[in-house]
Amino acid sequence: MSQLLIKNGRVIDPASGTDMLADVLTQDGVIAAAGANLEAAGAEVLDATGLIVAPGFIDMHVHLREPGFEHAETIETGARAAAAGGFTSICCMPNTLPVNDNATVTSYIIERARKLAITNVFPIGAITKNSAGEELSAIGSMKAAGVVAISDDGRPVMSARVMRRAMEFARSFNLPVIDHCEDLNLSAGGDMHEGYESVRLGLRGIPASSEDVMVARDILLAQVTGARFHVAHISTRNSIAMVAYAKQRGLPVTCEVTPHHFALTDAQMLPYDSNFKMKPPLRTAGDIAALLDGIVAGAVDVIATDHAPHPGSEKMQEFEKCPFGIIGFETALGLSLEHLVHTGKIPLTRLIAILTTGPAGVLHLNRGTLAVGAPADITIFSTDMQWTYDVNQSLSKSRNSPFDGHTFRGGPVATIVNGAIVWRRE
Ligand SMILES: [Zn+2]
Repeated sequence: MSQLLIKNGRVIDPASGTDMLADVLTQDGVIAAAGANLEAAGAEVLDATGLIVAPGFIDMHVHLREPGFEHAETIETGARAAAAGGFTSICCMPNTLPVNDNATVTSYIIERARKLAITNVFPIGAITKNSAGEELSAIGSMKAAGVVAISDDGRPVMSARVMRRAMEFARSFNLPVIDHCEDLNLSAGGDMHEGYESVRLGLRGIPASSEDVMVARDILLAQVTGARFHVAHISTRNSIAMVAYAKQRGLPVTCEVTPHHFALTDAQMLPYDSNFKMKPPLRTAGDIAALLDGIVAGAVDVIATDHAPHPGSEKMQEFEKCPFGIIGFETALGLSLEHLVHTGKIPLTRLIAILTTGPAGVLHLNRGTLAVGAPADITIFSTDMQWTYDVNQSLSKSRNSPFDGHTFRGGPVATIVNGAIVWRRE
């Protein structure tokens, strides 16, 4: 029998509305008790005085690069970096080589994760074969093998006819459809947000409308098919407004924001620095205000990182040639505290909810709560510890972050997965 007793923390569990000074006891990988002055002879004890004890964070949008791109990240290193960010569960996008578009690849990822990952790993299957946007992938057999959603993230489905059929299938298998909403006809060749800053820097722009038209299309398709539709990394004011409208209409539409999209504007980019190059691109202050309002008002369900490792060799080319994306696990909590909680926009409970019950609800995962009997996935963090991010110390294999050298107030202290401490701040 293995027991872990977490003493004297501020226990916040949005699922049950709990916010109290208490102890938490885990036993054999599940939550055994939460309350004052718990005792357990022989248990490993972790002192959480002055710290927050929350359900383990779930990151529903990550790229682990395995199989196929192990020079950028592996399931093992990605999970380690995730744990250092306070994440106990991560959901990996299918754009590997081969693409996760069939049960064999799904099973391979799950098997590798079981052997090597210190966090839980839930694969997301491709919508179409090879994410080519034409023929539907083996959705039913991938679901049986363990995928928790389908998405062609990064290579969005351009054909409305194909997306409609995918949603019909997804509905019958009770899987959410996650779309990276980008009309490639509008965004083709763009490197950053289209606007004043792109003109100033002489770079080709990606218009906000390239996202907006696809969000509109998919909301309408979700309405006719009844499928659950989730907008990945939402970034524009119009997209947020449309998701809020869909929710008002009672449609099963949800969305996520990434920390970098609410932390940085296009005007804050260091010119031609590829660590500021991502899709969707960094938007304007007006868009950020709309994202923050959406987080406050409930239009936003989830914070996800879109952790997208790329090795230095790829990110150090000319700006136009560099791939899109940045790593995100280790800075996610610090950025969220800085921009959402320390600014007084949302209470800590709401931040924890969009990192736990939010994604668990979208994906129907039996996680994200400290209820007795739930898997003992727990994130312990500080809201005021000062620390500086040194990207060269990252547990990820890649170093592409615009937040190197940034000093944070608050961050993860210990990460517990299935009752075992898998990461601790030194
Ligand atoms: Zn994406």
